[in-house]
Amino acid sequence: MKTLDVIVPSFNEEKNISDFFKEISKELKPVDLDWRIIFVNDGSKDNTLSIIKKLAAIHEEVFYISFSKNFGKESALYAGLKKSTADYVIIMDADFQDPPFLIPKMLDCMRNSNYDVISCRRTNRKGEPAIRSFFARLFYKIINRVTDVSLVDGARDFRLMTRPVVDAVLELTEYNRFSKGIFEWVGFDTYWIEYENVERTEGESSWSFWSLFKYSIEGIISFTTAPLNVATVLGLIISVISFIAILFIVLRTLLFGDPVEGWPSTISIILFVSGIQLFTIGILGQYISRIYLETKKRPLYLIKETNIDD
Ligand code: UDP
Ligand code: MG
Repeated sequence: MKTLDVIVPSFNEEKNISDFFKEISKELKPVDLDWRIIFVNDGSKDNTLSIIKKLAAIHEEVFYISFSKNFGKESALYAGLKKSTADYVIIMDADFQDPPFLIPKMLDCMRNSNYDVISCRRTNRKGEPAIRSFFARLFYKIINRVTDVSLVDGARDFRLMTRPVVDAVLELTEYNRFSKGIFEWVGFDTYWIEYENVERTEGESSWSFWSLFKYSIEGIISFTTAPLNVATVLGLIISVISFIAILFIVLRTLLFGDPVEGWPSTISIILFVSGIQLFTIGILGQYISRIYLETKKRPLYLIKETNIDD
């Protein structure tokens, strides 16, 4: 029999874990696959781990990996994929925003097609603050424009992958992980299942506006070096303009003399150019800080305990 691992990154999900397991096992019972659920406890501050352990004591399909602290969802996903040995792997959230009822449909699609990935995408953003949706859409527009990967708006990390895809994802060992981009970057044939947005059942999203903003910058910087050209392009444009301006000023001085004028324009130019310089140095900084983090080769996560044998 083929095997299936469901990987569930969990951070402060004490109110969701039990219901989630109930729901998911209901969906997986009739399936002719040897399945298990791997919860990755990402340094939760609540009772998430003890609830998972209780489940694991009763149900032989439940496995867990528990981190020494919070390393972020990206690391949790990587750890889960790394520990998985199954033919098929599903990754999904614990908060019911990735609806378990879609799983049989995903498995059907996988069996009756040659797709390597069955991925889910929400068709709307119902229940989400309008301002957040606006910036999310803007982000997708920008990232698709400036990078080579094309991200699908509304795509979630909820997906079913075959072993070759999982192995491919694991080959990307970068420290700054932007999973949405990584999944897209590895290629393979993806079938999209669409569904209406579902709101989180319990607890709250761990994403603040600021963390989403940083995540967006991460996404762009991870998948394109285009911003590094900003300095070159702006520098070139400003040089050409200055050259023309210098010619103009020299000619004017020769023709009409040199009255002391132009203080405001001098200041404006200095401020303008130094602003651009700081901005472009900032872009360099973004890349350098990532090179710095990559060269340290720190582990993506540290496991404190697990019931999975290697
Ligand atoms: N999560 C995690 N580590 C974190 C933050 C979140 O493992 O540092 C998990 C969380 O438990 C959930 C999933 O990642 O299963 C998605 O998190 P959340 O619902 O906060 O994100 P959203 O759905 O709002 O994008
Ligand atoms: Mg959520």
